[in-house]
Parts: sequence; structure tokens; C-alpha cells
Amino acid sequence: MRTSASCNTLMSMGEDTMATGIASQLRTVHEEVAAASRAAKRDPSAVKLIAVTKIVPASVIEEAIAAGQLRFGENRVQEARTKWPELKERHPDIELHLIGPLQSNKVRDAVALFDVIETLDRPKIAAALAEEMARAGKRPRLLVQVNTGEEPQKAGVLPDELDGFVAQCRERLGVAIEGLMCIPPLDEEPSLHFALLAKMAHRLGLAELSMGMSGDFARAIAFGATYVRVGTAIFGARGAAITV
Ligand SMILES: *Cc1c(COP(=O)(O)O)cnc(C)c1O
Repeated sequence: MRTSASCNTLMSMGEDTMATGIASQLRTVHEEVAAASRAAKRDPSAVKLIAVTKIVPASVIEEAIAAGQLRFGENRVQEARTKWPELKERHPDIELHLIGPLQSNKVRDAVALFDVIETLDRPKIAAALAEEMARAGKRPRLLVQVNTGEEPQKAGVLPDELDGFVAQCRERLGVAIEGLMCIPPLDEEPSLHFALLAKMAHRLGLAELSMGMSGDFARAIAFGATYVRVGTAIFGARGAAITV
């Protein structure tokens, strides 16, 4: 009896420590978002924090939800399918963002699961989304990913092709676009990319700007980010094997 009682105590201590860790890291990030907003003379409530939970298990996501976080991001449809249907059923107010590449064969799952798809980046996917949204009667909000660094290995519409692509989505496909998203090259100053994305969104009359991660969200806020996508600063490092 004694063994099992002390074992239980240890286990709940472990869980408490984890809950406190996630809650306090979330609080810290919220404070940093608010500070960066004030420094940029922006309303802190205009910057929405997306907690990025790739690789993070459902039990830890529950800790973040218990701490009041309701907006989350995943970069793989397949992984999201294993964790989120149940979490969303328990917590109907959750807003789930897809922040990784979308393939045609995952469009149906993505429309079913995500509230915001940030990675629309080619006409074929736009057409598939339009068709699936009509079929399912569900309309996730859409952002277009822009490959601001013109990196060959990276997803996203090239800056030169953005106006045409957005016009095509709007006119030919009847798909409304709310904003733009980018992932700057790892080895470049991100501010240049944030500035470019903000300029393009302004030109196109798009309200939402998803930019900034753990290492650079304060700079993204200075350039007008309305969504920042933060994983590591909330949940800790994902390990060397896992990359964006
Ligand atoms: C993983 C990921 C993030 C979060 O990155 P951190 O550096 O862990 O904050 C943001 N955006 C995208 C697209 C990601 O894949």
C-alpha cells in the first residue's frame, strides 16, 4: 500500500510539474507577445498566438488547454488526425491551423479537421479545396503560403506569382483568401521576409499575416503579424531529428 501511495504521489507530482511548466511558458510567451505589440504601438489583442503541437502528445496538449490556450497548429495532416478529433470533441472551442504542406489526397481530411488552412499554394489544391468545401459544407478559413525566399525546396507561391494566384482563387474558384503566411529561410534575417509579406498583404487587401516562430515572433509582430506560430518556446525543443 505504502509503495503504491508514494508511487501515486510521485506520478502526480510529475504531472503537476509538467502542467506548471507548460502554463508558465505559455504565460511568458503571451507576455512577450504583448510587450512586442506595445513596442510596435499595436493592440496586443490583434496578435493571436498559435501553439504549435507537432510531435507534442495529446496529454501535454491537454495541459496547454487547461492553461487556457485554444488556438493550435499542426504541420502534418496525418499526425493531426491521430490527436485532434478527440481533443476537439472534448474542447469544441479549439481553433486548429494547418501550417504544413497540403497534398491533394489529404484535402478531405484537412477540410474535416482544420479551422484554418494556412498553406494554400497552388491552383490544383485551390480547386480541390473549393470542391471539397462545397461537398462537405464546411469552410475552413484560408491563407496563402508565400515562398518569400524563393527557396526551391520550400512550399509556397513565388512572390511574382502571388497576385495572379490570389485573383484566380477569388474569381475562378470562389475561394476567399484571408491572408498570407511565410517561413523565412533559416540563414537569412527574417525581418526582410516579414516586411515583404506585409507589403504584399497590404497591396492585396488581405488582413491576416501569419509569420514569426519561437526565435523571431517579436520581430514579426513589429512588421504586422496577426498570427505568430510558436512551438519550442512553449513545449520545449523537439529534438535534432525533427525539422520544420
Ligand atoms: C514547427 C513550426 C513552427 C514553430 O516553430 P518553433 O521554432 O518551434 O516555434 C512554426 N511554423 C511552422 C510552419 C512550423 O512547422
